[in-house]
Amino acid sequence: MAAQETVEHKYVYDFAEGNKDLKDLLGGKGANLAEMTNLGLPVPPGFTITTEACKAYLTTGREPDGLAAQIEAHLESLEREMGRKLGDPQDPLLVSVRSGAKFSMPGMMETVLNVGLNDRSVVGLSAQAGGNDRFAWDSYRRLIQMFGKTVCEVPGEEFEHALDDAKRAKGTQNDLDLDADDLRGLVDAYKKIFAKHTGREFPQEPREQLDLAIRAVFESWNAERAVVYRRQERIPADLGTAVNVVAMVFGNLGADSGTGVAFTRDPASGAQGIYGDYLANAQGEDVVAGIRNTVPLQELEQLDKKSYDELLDYMARLEEHYKDLCDIEFTIERGKLWMLQTRVGKRTAAAAFVIAGQLVDEGLIDLDEALHRVNGAQLAQLMFPRFQLDHEFQPVAKGIGASPGAASGKVVFTSARAVELAAEGESVILVRRETNPDDLSGMIAAKGILTSRGGKTSHAAVVARGMGKTCVSGADELEVNVPAKRFTVAGQTVNEGDVVSIDGTTGKVYLGEVPVMPSEVVQYFEGSLDPEHIDNPLVRAVHRIMTHADATRRLRVRTNADTGADAARARRFGAEGIGLCRTEHMFLGDRRELVERLILASTDEERQTALAALLPLQRDDFVEIFREMDGLPVTVRLIDPPLHEFLPPLEQLAVNVAVAQERGEDVAKEEALLAAVRRMHEENPMLGLRGVRLGLVIPGLFAMQVRAIAEAAVAVTRDGGSACPEIMVPLVGAVQELETVRAEAEKIIAEVVGDSGVEVLIGTMIEVPRAALTAGQIAEAAQFFSFGTNDLTQMGWGFSRDDVEGAFFWRYLELGIFGISPFESIDRDGVGRLVRIAADEGRAARPGLKLGVCGEHGGDPESVHFFHEVGLDYVSCSPFRVPVARLEAGRAVLTTTGSDSR
Ligand code: PEP
Ligand code: MG
Repeated sequence: MAAQETVEHKYVYDFAEGNKDLKDLLGGKGANLAEMTNLGLPVPPGFTITTEACKAYLTTGREPDGLAAQIEAHLESLEREMGRKLGDPQDPLLVSVRSGAKFSMPGMMETVLNVGLNDRSVVGLSAQAGGNDRFAWDSYRRLIQMFGKTVCEVPGEEFEHALDDAKRAKGTQNDLDLDADDLRGLVDAYKKIFAKHTGREFPQEPREQLDLAIRAVFESWNAERAVVYRRQERIPADLGTAVNVVAMVFGNLGADSGTGVAFTRDPASGAQGIYGDYLANAQGEDVVAGIRNTVPLQELEQLDKKSYDELLDYMARLEEHYKDLCDIEFTIERGKLWMLQTRVGKRTAAAAFVIAGQLVDEGLIDLDEALHRVNGAQLAQLMFPRFQLDHEFQPVAKGIGASPGAASGKVVFTSARAVELAAEGESVILVRRETNPDDLSGMIAAKGILTSRGGKTSHAAVVARGMGKTCVSGADELEVNVPAKRFTVAGQTVNEGDVVSIDGTTGKVYLGEVPVMPSEVVQYFEGSLDPEHIDNPLVRAVHRIMTHADATRRLRVRTNADTGADAARARRFGAEGIGLCRTEHMFLGDRRELVERLILASTDEERQTALAALLPLQRDDFVEIFREMDGLPVTVRLIDPPLHEFLPPLEQLAVNVAVAQERGEDVAKEEALLAAVRRMHEENPMLGLRGVRLGLVIPGLFAMQVRAIAEAAVAVTRDGGSACPEIMVPLVGAVQELETVRAEAEKIIAEVVGDSGVEVLIGTMIEVPRAALTAGQIAEAAQFFSFGTNDLTQMGWGFSRDDVEGAFFWRYLELGIFGISPFESIDRDGVGRLVRIAADEGRAARPGLKLGVCGEHGGDPESVHFFHEVGLDYVSCSPFRVPVARLEAGRAVLTTTGSDSR
């Protein structure tokens, strides 16, 4: 960046200068504070330092030129507006310094409150608070604690221990029993801790406090827990955080003060109403940290009717303005309500659908917008099963249903143990008194989270909802003893390793493993719930939005299915054809022996006998599938894997033969088998004799399959049904391979089909990079392409698809080489480019060439958007992902830049 540009660059915005659409620059919190300010809501004055300033700091290790002066100017205007000066010994202005990235990352980055207090201004603060010495010293000790921990990395427990010592000396367990003198003593103790760990005194200069706090917020963007969270939530690593400097208001000035969190609708179920928590005489962090138990927001009506009514009015205005569920943080300072934050609130998958449906009913949004606001990941979550409860299972405790779902697993008490056991393949439930950001990796590893403290807005609840993980919070009948690795409830002791089940919808906790039942959404897709006639708001909303997605989408959705049963289920889920019928499983089971005969055949005659025996079996397989699909297109792929996969493993066979020889038994057959296995052994079977290569090397193999397909189609048609087969040749890299197979196949098809009216298409997979790069030539011989993105990724990256994810992807993810495995979500730039080239060049050579995808990516939401953009005709995925693909194909029409509703 040129020098003169940085001088003029605007890094600081007053709240009145921003708006909600400036999230990239001001972060979510800053943009929304600006929006509320402009709506005339009571927001404490302040300013926002941009994400660009953060990025510049993180790149160069120092604040960009001009930032300090701009902060000074905005601070001065804040001081003028408040009529107070930062650090003034008589009447000090205090500010909070808060992070705020474009996407909310709850509790992941830093906040410092009460900046501006020092040994002198603490006296002024007391005077300002009507001689409330206790409040002033409590605020000061909080500053030293937060500043020490977040800015100077002083271990937080040291402060906790000093606080515990003070309470013990006083003979109490409650912070509120400490008086001004106790807190003054605590400030001294905190300062000593600070000096011991940092080698310097606690900074008395308010501007230095402010600058260091801002810097700490910038740096917290790269704190480990923030990095882990971003990876989990797929938030880009290069956005940076904004910093909000806001005039402090106090919820801890007495019984007429307090702080709370409110939702305009229930973020768990989507139900309309007033939801939230309130905590009297406390500062905001106390609520989010779940340290003290809150009361339901409705109780505020009794405590402070005026503020309650005012809050309800603002909540209605915000919802109307944002046209969505809003969550709000507020503080009441001596009967005066202040709005500290709002944002479009996080919600569970069920609530996302229900709320989108409600907002359409209320005329606030249209169906396109409703479709845009839900996503395939949420739909997939709703297809999880739930607990099946009968009288046998009685809950032992009831907490708050903080994030729905049903989870059973072994109890663990620490994040580290959760990670350890999960790595061994165990399902675990992480049980804590309350969670904090350090528990993040354990929360990711666990199937569910159970806490004995905290409300719907505690850290555990917010983070679990964001991850779509089952969570019960505030189950206060549980006595959790983390060091002893046990909890007690209802007179029973549960130790680490015992199994519990938690229901994140009802908040109930059960001992032992509770069986599960399918979701209503799956029942609806299966056709057993009629959306018009049941009183289930979720099913009605899903039905409505899915119907709109189907009407909107251009991409067709097929399924990958190899059996009649899978095909039938996929059709109920809305599949419009089969995009990949893998034929290899048809060579297993009791057909193995025939396959062995085929492989071992030493003469043409022996081979033909084996193939002739396989033919009717294959034909029956296809008849069953064609019948189920009833005239919808069915892409049958000729056999792909290497033949040795159908034979016993080399080592085992060698040992058997040696032992039998030793015993003097007749081993001629086994020896022949062993010789064949040896002959076929390959160092890199994935790059060896498979797919079309096999068809060209084993005479008659593909011909048998082609005949079985054509005969099955004719049989179904003659029976009055209809069949629409598409024969697909795998692993083609050169047009000559396809031409050779096609010439033989066409002869057989013409012979079998005769005048039956059956039409059989012949096409190819595009899954070898060379095929993608020569797609123009290949299209001359292919009536359709189907992208095999599994192999295309394997060969495009040179990654063994069976090994690398377990072997080293964790490191690649850690280093940010990619944000998600390219086997899970299409690598747009590399493998995606191969797809694009092949699609364009294929269509140029053969206009109207049918294009589809049948690799795993066909059911991945992000990838579906990509395939829509590239202009494919259909995606094909496993039956369970068909609804997800339908939904995302609809959303892709609305937003062709990828799913962005986070
Ligand atoms: C592919 O490679 O993407 C594909 C669909 O084929 P398979 O997974 O069977 O190799
Ligand atoms: Mg493949």
